[in-house]
Amino acid sequence: MISEIDLLAKVPTRLFIGGDWVESTSGRSIDVHDPATDAVLATIADASPADGAAALDAAVAAQESWAATAPRVRGELLRRAFDLLQERADEFALLMTLEMGKPVAEARGEVTYGGEFLRWFGEEAVRIQGRYGKNPEGTGRMIVTHLPVGPSFLITPWNFPLAMATRKIAPALAAGCTVVIKPAELTPLTTLYFAKLLEDAGLPKGVVNVITTSTSKEVSGPIIADPRLRKLSFTGSTPVGVALLKQAADNVLRTSMELGGNAPFVVFEDADLDKAVDGAMLAKFRNIGEACTAANRFIVHESVADEFATRITERVSALKIGRGTEDGVSIGPLINSGAVDKAAALVDDAVERGATLLTGGSRVDRAGSFYEPTVLSGVAAGSDILREEIFGPVVSIVTFTDEKDAVAKANDTEYGLVSYVFTRDLARGQRMVEALNTGMMGLNVGVVSNAAAPFGGVKQSGIGREGGAEGIHEYLETKYVLTPDPFA
Ligand code: ADP
Repeated sequence: MISEIDLLAKVPTRLFIGGDWVESTSGRSIDVHDPATDAVLATIADASPADGAAALDAAVAAQESWAATAPRVRGELLRRAFDLLQERADEFALLMTLEMGKPVAEARGEVTYGGEFLRWFGEEAVRIQGRYGKNPEGTGRMIVTHLPVGPSFLITPWNFPLAMATRKIAPALAAGCTVVIKPAELTPLTTLYFAKLLEDAGLPKGVVNVITTSTSKEVSGPIIADPRLRKLSFTGSTPVGVALLKQAADNVLRTSMELGGNAPFVVFEDADLDKAVDGAMLAKFRNIGEACTAANRFIVHESVADEFATRITERVSALKIGRGTEDGVSIGPLINSGAVDKAAALVDDAVERGATLLTGGSRVDRAGSFYEPTVLSGVAAGSDILREEIFGPVVSIVTFTDEKDAVAKANDTEYGLVSYVFTRDLARGQRMVEALNTGMMGLNVGVVSNAAAPFGGVKQSGIGREGGAEGIHEYLETKYVLTPDPFA
């Protein structure tokens, strides 16, 4: 295993524009911190609006030739990137642990998950299909084809530094779009190191450009307003997504928005409780709870709620807290002190309103931003924790009386990303598929993410789908052509 110092020395610290690694014109820099120790890991370029404009210029300049590249060639570039990622898997895993905090074993899982987008969309590049047929009147022939949308701007969050980048870059490239990507300023190193991997895989100049900045709004605004940009893909919080949609409206951009979640995790009285608890641990504690798909509200039938709470408390009390590089750790630090403050405020509010604290409930007294894995039962209606995205290792349990009550409680949120349902009754499971207002559902499973699946939400959780057969269409425009009946 490579040492932390050797790895960090390999990670680029400048902007990647038009195939060159360049300094920022701002002359400013960003310190990237290890959330487990608060130490500075690296100091990187802080892009100015002029750098953002240069990155878009480079993407625009490369667009025509990239769109003209044979689909097989685009697919093979992604496949080479997939292969290189396997070779460098340990490095990417360690890098994500260092800048984001997740345990190395989970970071390794993200390398697998993130890599699959490269493989999947490398395969999809050659399957962009259209149709040809008679119009209903029989007087002409209708042709439907799909063309790349054009230069795309990708904005990614800090919680899955690799997978959020590959989930956007891979379909864009497969479709024939060039991109500017702006990773989160808290975890930019993985995207920079991934750009280097793409370079090694033979990426043509300007097809992918990376800008890192501490002034996201100032740098992104002019890019989004530029008429040469045709697509904005964002993953992050709902308020920022809403602000970006408003900006995108002025330029009538195609948009994909993966926004916040408030996932219900519904356990029926007929569920296999062992499986429900296993699923709950995954749905809640994967990524230290810092996932938009994290179970946010455990909605458990009143007859099994005590048993469920007891079993999950036992499991949660045994979780080891520490730096993600340490053996056996499953709870790393939260991303920063603000995230700890938020988790603490939500827990305190729930307890003040009458919830029972079964384990955890405190900050951890050590360097870095740690919060104890926590279980709350009997959370009262109206508590903030039922309405807001926790983004931390906190289980919050409420009870329900019957199926109708469960559906009402599960749907009582403005979000609609994912739901989890545990039941052994097939018909009930099928009713839940139709009754719960979410873009995705885990039926007797606690994780749904897969490169082959259309990931996305409804309501305030977003617009569009990433991954699956649908994912490439986020970067394709439909063109329809009519020709006269050739026999007439
Ligand atoms: P989170 O709450 O997960 O940090 P954010 O929505 O704040 O999510 O951030 C997600 C991404 O959006 C990050 O890359 C961040 O830098 C970027 N971002 C935040 N605010 C803006 C903005 N006003 N314009 C463009 N990008 C932004």
